[in-house]
Amino acid sequence: MRAKWSAARLEKAMLEVLGTCEIILTERAIRVNGKPCAAKIVWDRGPPLITIDAYSFGRVKAVMHELLHYVLREEMVRYNETVEEIVIEGLTEYMLNGVVAKNTKRWKMWTKAIAGRVK
Ligand SMILES: [Zn+2]
Repeated sequence: MRAKWSAARLEKAMLEVLGTCEIILTERAIRVNGKPCAAKIVWDRGPPLITIDAYSFGRVKAVMHELLHYVLREEMVRYNETVEEIVIEGLTEYMLNGVVAKNTKRWKMWTKAIAGRVK
């Protein structure tokens, strides 16, 4: 049996994926399943590619949200899109405000790591 997801394991896995992915800022509208949104992630064509609305607030939050979709993709197959979004939204809030944003060093580390992946 695999180890359970703790906040620490989730953050580690998210940072590992962040180290391999590419982030693109776009001025074009982003849509997922026909709905407008601030960011999206695709991983079926090689390393994960995150596209973010260049004008949206909360780049760290958007990236963390998309990384959670990727890191938990195997767990999420049992949820429909609506429920998956609710689960990932909740985890994003927790990982952002409960873990990363509480700690200045961590916040800086995430901000720099994200900036380093933007093409
Ligand atoms: Zn989402």
